[in-house]
Amino acid sequence: MTNAYDIVDHSHDVIVVGAGGAGLRAAFGMAHKGLKTACLSKVFPTRSHTVAAQGGISAPLGNMGEDDWRWHMYDTVKGSDWLGDQDAIEFMVREANAVIIELEHFGVPFSRTPEGKIYQRPFGGMTTHFGEGKAERTCAAADRTGHAILHALYQQSLKHGVEFFIEYFAIDLLMDADGGCGGVLAWCLDDGTIHRFRAPMTVLATGGYGRTYFSCTSAHTCTGDGNAMVLRAGLPLQDMEFIQFHPTGIYGAGCLISEGSRGEGGYLTNAQGERFMERYAPAAKDLASRDVVSRAMTVEIREGRGVGPDRDHIHLHLEHLDPKMVAERLPGISETARIFAGIDLTKEPIPVLPTCHYNMGGIPTKHRGEAVTLRDGDPEAVVPGLMAIGEAACVSVHGANRLGSNSLLDLMAFGRAAAERCAGIVKAGAPVRPLAEDASDRALARFDRLRHADGGTPTAALRLEMQKTMQSNCAVFRTAEVLEEGARLLALAWEKRGDLKVSDRSMIWNSDLVETLELDNLLYQAVVSVHSAANRTESRGAHAREDYPERDDENWLKHTLVWCGDDGKPRIDYRPVHLQPLSNEIQSFPPKARVY
Ligand SMILES: Cc1cc2nc3c(=O)[nH]c(=O)nc-3n(C[C@H](O)[C@H](O)[C@H](O)COP(=O)(O)OP(=O)(O)OC[C@H]3O[C@@H](n4cnc5c(N)ncnc54)[C@H](O)[C@@H]3O)c2cc1C
Repeated sequence: MTNAYDIVDHSHDVIVVGAGGAGLRAAFGMAHKGLKTACLSKVFPTRSHTVAAQGGISAPLGNMGEDDWRWHMYDTVKGSDWLGDQDAIEFMVREANAVIIELEHFGVPFSRTPEGKIYQRPFGGMTTHFGEGKAERTCAAADRTGHAILHALYQQSLKHGVEFFIEYFAIDLLMDADGGCGGVLAWCLDDGTIHRFRAPMTVLATGGYGRTYFSCTSAHTCTGDGNAMVLRAGLPLQDMEFIQFHPTGIYGAGCLISEGSRGEGGYLTNAQGERFMERYAPAAKDLASRDVVSRAMTVEIREGRGVGPDRDHIHLHLEHLDPKMVAERLPGISETARIFAGIDLTKEPIPVLPTCHYNMGGIPTKHRGEAVTLRDGDPEAVVPGLMAIGEAACVSVHGANRLGSNSLLDLMAFGRAAAERCAGIVKAGAPVRPLAEDASDRALARFDRLRHADGGTPTAALRLEMQKTMQSNCAVFRTAEVLEEGARLLALAWEKRGDLKVSDRSMIWNSDLVETLELDNLLYQAVVSVHSAANRTESRGAHAREDYPERDDENWLKHTLVWCGDDGKPRIDYRPVHLQPLSNEIQSFPPKARVY
């Protein structure tokens, strides 16, 4: 069978899969260090989901008032509900100011204060003095921050000579006989050829898997392909039960209305016109952490206080704000509200609903990007030849809940760190590692099986089934019963993988096959997310169990590791949280109650 495909071979010092913020930052950093760097992307680089980031990127610059990396660190640890690794968090927040200055030098047109400094807006969970005051910490280019950053990074990548392979779809990792990674197999969508990329280091920067859900803010390309490749390579993913619901997706469409809208003074009301967040988070109110606001909205709707004819959503008000300010600071969401909700936000409230937005879990890594696994009792065993960064990775700085504007910072801080680490361990021109004998054949066999799938279930039908299951059985509130039903429904969906129908057999621009490969990847992640959630009998951050409403540090202050093979039956283990910071310039923040 596999002889049916001619393979084009490539050899590099490093292969980066993904050209979003994380992939591009790492790729040109590596090229800059003299490494021959390939960057693969299934879409044109500037169409990666990073382009959609609106609200901004956090850094304690202190341009609008006092700030300090220690306060940013405290907020991030607290936001993570203490599941974040404090060494990685310290590393990230201490990199933040340098990251912003660097971006500015790359040409990112940050919004300005009247005196010309980089403007910073308040964001949920961002405080001063360890929770006492409200920080203005989020740097923004109006509400199109990701767009500005991604274009600047792409220009840098071209300048530094990154070799791009655009509209190449990575199928699977190519592993060596000792469990290390030797490269990746990919399909060129444009001419239908199959390519084997080999290098001493492969970096996965493939983004999140928002599309496991029916309603999400992420692009159609957010199918977590890298995560699924890792599972198929016999390696674990971490903390997959922690999925962030953004409070303000547009009702019906799912498109994001940035948290920056509440940062600039917007607020939520229920059917009685009540600003209900004052009851749930008396101090932070509408700017409490995202999980807190999403749950409060869900409770309001459930208790019959939702707005609209079906009382099934909430209102976000911006009409009281100065229209000039809105036009200047939030132009993108004005347009989004007009197109997707049909309203003029200077005159009426926006209908919103909590919507799947971000994946805290992913490929477990050290704080310089090396992927790790649990081997012979060692929870920090490095996987040779493999790194992961960005939303695909779980380093873990976001723990059980990410603070808004910390993801763009994560991409930049760890993208850069991975480039530096890679330059330290890979010598330019070093030999590639020998692959396991059947590595390419196995990857091709799966590809070929899906290409020729000739059953009775169209890809779109199975995807909808999975998305509806995730939406109703693994959302804002969870119970054992609901999760077990979810696991059962997903097991049925898993079985239908064998009955898929792909109508187009062509190798060129075959979107039916692309979507089928993506669906297969999504199914792996849906299954491991539900099982990880069912196993964790406590509530922490975004994981809210109605049957276990309290956080349980005694039993559950640990990261979930989950494996899943071809049989679709996940195996779960745990590894400790790093409570110790990186330096001795700050003490560990011990767990305490999380109130806003
Ligand atoms: C609407 C929206 C708004 C947001 N706003 C903010 C914000 O204001 N501030 C903030 O901090 N965070 C924000 N976030 C979160 C943040 O934008 C994302 O977490 C981040 O951009 C992810 O970047 P990434 O580089 O990891 O992946 P992505 O930008 O998703 O890029 C993934 C890359 O991998 C490639 N890829 C994937 N699979 C394959 C494959 N099989 N083969 C080849 N290539 C592949 C894709 O082509 C793409 O280039 C927002 C998210 C969304 C959805």
